[in-house]
Amino acid sequence: MTTIKSSNLGYPRIGENREWKRALENFWNGNISEQELIHITDEIRLHNLKKQKQQGIDLIPVGDFSLYDHVLDTSISFGVVPERFSYEGGKVDLDTYFAIARGVDDAVASEMTKWFNTNYHYIVPELNGMKPSLVENRALTYYNEAKEKLGIDGKPVILGPITYISLSKGYDGSDFEAVVDTFLPLYTQVLQELADAGATWVQLDEPIFSTDVPEEIIRIAEKVYNHFANQVPAINIIFQTYFEKVFHYDRIKNLPVKGIGLDFVHGDSLKLLTEYGFPKDKVLAAGIVDGRNVWLANLEDKLSLLETIKRFVHEEQLIVQPSSSLLHVPVTKSLEKKLDQVILDGLSFADDKIHEVVTLTKGIKSGRHAIAKEIESATAALNNLHATYRSNQSVRNKITDLTSEDASRDTAFPDRIKTQQESLKLPLLPTTTIGSLPQTPEVRSTRTKWRKGKITDAAYEQFVKGQIQRWITIQEELDIDVLVHGEFERNDMVEYFGEKLKGFSVTEYGWVQSYGSRCVKPPLIFGDVSWEQPITVKESVFAQSLTERTVKGMLTGPVTILNWSFVHDTTPRYDIMKQIALALQKEIEALEENGIKIIQVDEPALREGLPLNQEKWKKYLDASAYAFRLATATVKAGTQIHTHMCYSNFEDIFDCIDALDADVISIETSRSHGELVSTFEQNTYTKEIGLGVYDIHSPRIPSVEEVKANIERALQSISPTQFWVNPDCGLKTRKEPETIDALKVMVQAAKEVRQDQLTTLKQ
Ligand code: GLN
Ligand code: ZN
Repeated sequence: MTTIKSSNLGYPRIGENREWKRALENFWNGNISEQELIHITDEIRLHNLKKQKQQGIDLIPVGDFSLYDHVLDTSISFGVVPERFSYEGGKVDLDTYFAIARGVDDAVASEMTKWFNTNYHYIVPELNGMKPSLVENRALTYYNEAKEKLGIDGKPVILGPITYISLSKGYDGSDFEAVVDTFLPLYTQVLQELADAGATWVQLDEPIFSTDVPEEIIRIAEKVYNHFANQVPAINIIFQTYFEKVFHYDRIKNLPVKGIGLDFVHGDSLKLLTEYGFPKDKVLAAGIVDGRNVWLANLEDKLSLLETIKRFVHEEQLIVQPSSSLLHVPVTKSLEKKLDQVILDGLSFADDKIHEVVTLTKGIKSGRHAIAKEIESATAALNNLHATYRSNQSVRNKITDLTSEDASRDTAFPDRIKTQQESLKLPLLPTTTIGSLPQTPEVRSTRTKWRKGKITDAAYEQFVKGQIQRWITIQEELDIDVLVHGEFERNDMVEYFGEKLKGFSVTEYGWVQSYGSRCVKPPLIFGDVSWEQPITVKESVFAQSLTERTVKGMLTGPVTILNWSFVHDTTPRYDIMKQIALALQKEIEALEENGIKIIQVDEPALREGLPLNQEKWKKYLDASAYAFRLATATVKAGTQIHTHMCYSNFEDIFDCIDALDADVISIETSRSHGELVSTFEQNTYTKEIGLGVYDIHSPRIPSVEEVKANIERALQSISPTQFWVNPDCGLKTRKEPETIDALKVMVQAAKEVRQDQLTTLKQ
């Protein structure tokens, strides 16, 4: 390298208008052939790579594209296919690929879990003593493609071996090094083939080093990267980390690689440079532009930061780049036609971020004056946003005045639950669902029509009521104990609230991938937050009016709303969380006043928001529990507060779950049932709890025996008087017939176990 370069770490896959999602779903539904799918997705990938998209970027990432998930891609390139999919070697075909991700009739999908502290989910590799082999060098395929079709000499992006294996399951921790050893020659071959094809740079993603890994892992990393350096000296490896500062930086910085990628947005990497310096023989790939947020970069500040960083390295040692892959932000803001201009001007999506990187590279290369105009316009847009929306004094005062009493219920759980039981009169092992019911094509298309003004508000409302009514009947026929209204009026559990709370705004096209083809559209929190009018009361009250059974009110909690929004960064995050909590408190009071007896406040994002750096955990968990309690503290003892969370790995947040003081919690578990149940074996939980008894992320209908086994397994560590029976998560993504069939099975299983339990209790 002779001078400062610009780089990108990854680009969103989904297309400007989610063309990718539609193509995948059309393929799964049999509407298009495999060939058509490949054709459409090839076009999206090449379009993303085109020079006009990543204009001015010196190191353009290739191989970051995926048809589902990049961790799964890594697995299949090594032939890591769980035995139940009857794979016989060779390149993994597309049907098997999707089967691992989504499950098929006779084989359950692989577990899916969150990618570090993001809302992106990856498919957990199952190694189980498998002997991997290189069945497809995907990095090479994509490197060659970009070269041949577009003349781009790309930078292949590969999930690094230490991170890949750390994210896998199916081996004993003590075998870690042995497992690494089996993959080492394969990775070496990947790199060798890339070098032979002419690749000069390769990005090995090793975000696991942004978590506090044991020293032993560092030693293994040293061995692995030494091996690469000796075997494939021709290729320049960038050891890429992101989402936090690097732990054990003093050792990582000396790895025998050409470059080290650090995140200067989410961790105090500058402090590491100050304390330990940076080696003279390496390139520092500095993540300067936030890859996780959508607000315009303050170019003034960013340039100053770069100037500081430059004091530690020479000219030819610096790469300017986003803090992480741009996978976590929407593609382009150019399609947004309805946003307030002040907000729009303050936004930066993937395409804009690439420009910011290029601009900053120019600034640090040629001096501040070279980008004076850009700095001026960014500063003006940010100042304007601040002055217009970030100074609601009354909200700010309320936050300052809060005490711990404001966040605790008057009656303790043991007394509350008695009052609740008397009024709710539920059977042992009550059944319920998590909230949303299938959003059929009709539901979606009617909403689209309404949004486009093609049908009136009244007609839309009538339609939603019709759906609620139909499903109240279905749930009664299924004999479910606690009903839901179905969330038909909601597009997304966070966006829906974002549209109605003050201080929020929603985009039209600001989608990001969550899992597989599923994308979410996080709302923007651009200012101070407050409640203006009831949000959910109408639908809940209507649903309750139709039945004798209890219908749960359904809200999204403050932690999840915060974590799943793009939050401006000029007010402390936890203050904004309290602002949201106070707004929700008003909504919860409104539901209670209108006769709703059970109110569920979902917190599926609580776990994923856990900072990667353990030193930051306590502050986060305390703030989260406080905000949840603040939102739910003012209800009467007889009003039952539920909450729901997605995914296992609860050990870390067990105390926090308890501190939420929710009367009932439902937790998603079926893809890793045993692990969660054992958490409850080791910790005493006194409140009520439902562990998901079947997996809703797969279209597969479970058998009564399976569901019973799940319930019975849970009852080994949880008392039947505490236990609820529910699916894993909301049902909105499922089709109607499969949902009804699965719920039938669930209710049947609950009844059988209930019967057994009652008999035992009598004995
Ligand atoms: N109530 C929500 C639903 O059922 C909860 C979703 C979630 O946990 N992600 O859709
Ligand atoms: Zn869930």
